[in-house]
This record gives sequence, structure tokens and C-alpha cells, in this order.
Amino acid sequence: EKYTKEKEEIEKYGELKFDDIKIMANISVPQEIEVAKKKGADGIGLFRTEFLFVGRDNPPSEEEQYLVYKKALETFYPEEVVIRLLDIGGDKKIEYLAVDNEENPFLGLRGIRLLLKHKEILKTQLRALLRASAHGNLSVLVPMVTLPEDIEKLLEIIQETKEELLAEGKEIGSFKLGIMVEVPSVIWLIEKIAPYIDFVSIGTNDLTQYIFAADRNNPSVAKYYQDEHEVIFEIIATIAEKAKKFNLPVGVCGELAGKLGATEKLSQLGVTKLSVSPFKVPFIKRKIYEIQTGQERTYKG
Ligand code: PEP
Ligand code: MG
Repeated sequence: EKYTKEKEEIEKYGELKFDDIKIMANISVPQEIEVAKKKGADGIGLFRTEFLFVGRDNPPSEEEQYLVYKKALETFYPEEVVIRLLDIGGDKKIEYLAVDNEENPFLGLRGIRLLLKHKEILKTQLRALLRASAHGNLSVLVPMVTLPEDIEKLLEIIQETKEELLAEGKEIGSFKLGIMVEVPSVIWLIEKIAPYIDFVSIGTNDLTQYIFAADRNNPSVAKYYQDEHEVIFEIIATIAEKAKKFNLPVGVCGELAGKLGATEKLSQLGVTKLSVSPFKVPFIKRKIYEIQTGQERTYKG
């Protein structure tokens, strides 16, 4: 019973809002839109669209995607909804998007690399996003960006897609564009990529895997996979410092964002968005409240 009361008390923290940091939700399936809203998320910080594409024989149509994205945008309006372009490859596979057998899938055709090779899938998703953007505050996030040319090519395709929609007389809005910082090369290329984008989101899951050369799913090397290592915080500090020069907001959307032991450090480093599992939103908000008020709010039943 004490447990239930404590839980109820924590849930109340979901309603809090902070001026300098947003606690947003990571979601994967449309049903989580409502869950995230109920938990008090200040928007969606990462919509992993892979789950709309897996477990079926063909990709979702433009209309099907449009309706899901629109729902998320309308539910959270005027708050931001960050929808990530399809991040297939690595350990996430779909049959109708066949990739030649790869010896090292995590170092292979993944995320934007794969999308640039399957332009029809990319364009369908962009069409749905551009149309949905008329219904809310949309940001589009690009996974696995490695080089500036990934974004240069994507921007050309976005432009082409916009022109096609306008020529068809379709209603479109606009979105902000951001990249996942999850491939180490980006730490040194961020200045070259910055002019093309509006924000960055640090994906500590893949970043940790690539920095420590330890497969995120392989228990045999789990001891090398240290997402709370000083090295990771130093990288986040570097990215935050560089991003500041370009006025790019910095978020964290990997598992690290939902770890209570990391919250204070991340906020001190200038991270202004933490995106976490919906159920963690009230816990992280309580932690921020404690940090900001200097009050320890443990439940005293
Ligand atoms: C990440 O890599 O940290 C991330 C948030 O993306 P995913 O876990 O979907 O690869
Ligand atoms: Mg990732």
C-alpha cells in the first residue's frame, strides 16, 4: 500500500513544467501517444517510426503514416513532436527492405544510409511528414548521420518532395530538421553540419556502442558498454559547447536520458531536452524539481 501511495505521489510530478528543460517521451507505437500525454510529457522527443514498418509484408502507405503523425501532432499541440525518419538496418531488419548480407550490420546500411538508397520509401515518409506538419509543431530527426553529405542529399530530396506536393495542390506545413548524434565522426563534423540543421539529439545508445566498440546487444561485452562513463559525458559537453555557437538546442534521447544518476550532470552541461520512456517522465520531472528547489522529496508515508 505504501508503494501505491508513493507511485501516486510520483505521478503528480508529471504535471510540472520547467522553463529551462523539457522532459519529453520516447515512443514507438501509436498507442503510446496517449500514454505519453497522460504521463505529462512535454512533447514527443523521439518517435521511432520503425515500428510502423516492421511485422508486415509491405511498407505503410503515405496516408497511413500521415494519420499517425497527425494524431501525435494534434495530441501535443503546441508542444514539439520529434519524429525520426525510418532507422532500419543494424539489428532491425525488414524483409521488403532487403540489404545484402552484411558481416557487420551495425557498421553497414543503417538509418539515413539505407534511406538514401531507397528513395521511394524515404519520399513516402517525407510526403506524410510534410502533410502532417500542417497540423502541429513538427521536428524531423535523421538517424545515423555520419557525414555532411548525408544531410546535403536529404535536403535535396526534401525540396523535391515539397515541390511535388505543391504541384499536386496538397496542403503542407513546415518542420525543423535535426540529426541524431550517435556516430562518432559527427563529434568533429558538427560545425560543418550545423548550417543545415535546427537542433541535435544525442543518441547515447548507439554513441556508446560505437565509442567503446561494444555491440549494444551482446552480453559478452556488456562491461565495455558504459553509457554513464566520463567519456560519454565529455562528448556530450563537447557537442553542447559546439552546438551553442550555432544556437542549436541539444537533447539527449538515449537510455542515459532516463537515468536518475545522470539528470543533474546533463542539465548542467546545457542539455535542454531529455527524452525518456513515458513511464519515466514523472520520475525525471521529480528529479529536476529536487535539483532546482534543493528539496529532497522522498515519500514519507
Ligand atoms: C540511440 O541510439 O541512443 C537512440 C535513441 O536510438 P535507438 O535506440 O533507436 O537506436
Ligand atoms: Mg540509435
